[in-house]
Amino acid sequence: MSTLIRHVLLDNKPVDILICNNKIEQIAEHIPTALSDEIILGDGKAIIPAFYNMHTHSAMTLFRGIGEDKDLFEWLQKDIWPREEKLTKEQVYVASKFAILEMIKSGTVLFNDMYPFASSTEQAADEMGVKMLSSCVAFDLFNPKMTAEKKQSMNEFMERKISSSYIKKTVSCHAVYTVSEELLCFARDLAQKHHTFLHIHLAETQKEVDDCVEKTRLTPTQYLNKLGLLTDKTILAHCVWLNEEDRKLIKEKGCLIAHCPTSNLKLNSGQMPFNLYKEEGLKISLGTDGASSNNSLSMFSEMKIAALSAKGQSHNITAGKVEQILNASQQEPAQFLGLNAGLIREGALADFILLDLNNLFLQPQAFLKSHLVYSAESSAVSDVCSNGRFILKDKHHPFENEIIDSFLKVSESII
Ligand SMILES: [Zn+2]
Repeated sequence: MSTLIRHVLLDNKPVDILICNNKIEQIAEHIPTALSDEIILGDGKAIIPAFYNMHTHSAMTLFRGIGEDKDLFEWLQKDIWPREEKLTKEQVYVASKFAILEMIKSGTVLFNDMYPFASSTEQAADEMGVKMLSSCVAFDLFNPKMTAEKKQSMNEFMERKISSSYIKKTVSCHAVYTVSEELLCFARDLAQKHHTFLHIHLAETQKEVDDCVEKTRLTPTQYLNKLGLLTDKTILAHCVWLNEEDRKLIKEKGCLIAHCPTSNLKLNSGQMPFNLYKEEGLKISLGTDGASSNNSLSMFSEMKIAALSAKGQSHNITAGKVEQILNASQQEPAQFLGLNAGLIREGALADFILLDLNNLFLQPQAFLKSHLVYSAESSAVSDVCSNGRFILKDKHHPFENEIIDSFLKVSESII
């Protein structure tokens, strides 16, 4: 299967782009139409790499707006965990589809998820054609019975065969304050055994750090390092409160930070020192976190908040440069995941967005990159291609109405 995109703007120059199977085969001034099965007119559109959302809980779209203005621990204990206990796998499927629709419409083609009933979210991702890092979440609240049950379900999850090219099985742990040492070590071994990524919330709040130091005499980062969980396949969500030694460890081990500035600001957890971390050479990607602590899954708004937060936190006007912020949502995560993506070039994976250049938020067009971070919204996205397959065409998703209707029915039954 091949698709030719005619006259699309790439770095301010009109080009033709040929997509074969899941790759960008050729970029040239003119490519003969005979080479393709399908033609897409790119006039009035610009091509950019698609976004990778490196930390989210997609089915939490169901809880958007619930329990506002509370800090992380009160919000989790009073508003979120009691509701999550009652969720069913069908509800998670419907809520995940709705979340993925929002992601597609805002240019995201890959998400790193952490949530119960992962197989329901996998089904939704596979049906909608977006890539998902999926996991069975380690979470035992230091209860030995739960530890044993979790070990079994995590093992079963990893042994289950998946045929979809969109799903990558990974291991995740909720956090050091909800997972016992025994289960953290089990998760470490499981990730090593399956040569896969390990994903955990880390140093999200000052309280998490203080409690961990009191209990173990180590910061959460040092504690994870002692247990052998920090590797070049570890994705650390948040990392708001890192000291110098923590940062050295994370850099030395080659972990990827998933920075979630909106969630950190909204839950009053603090602001990650983006500029300092960049200066020290840490790898930073962006994540939206779940829709109940953000409350959006759009990487456009996440990029804007990331840039503003970097400046506000450091009191440095040069912090959070446009290129750095775009890199965190495109090239850095792609590289970390071992994907030839995050750039529009021949041979790269065909993960990209076509922007509608007539969109109000992209004017004047001379400053497109800046607009992507500071003014663009989902309405600027015209088409989305994931693994060479167009999953949004001319702002239209074929099952949009059905997905919204099903979600509304489920959400009414939950609130
Ligand atoms: Zn999270």
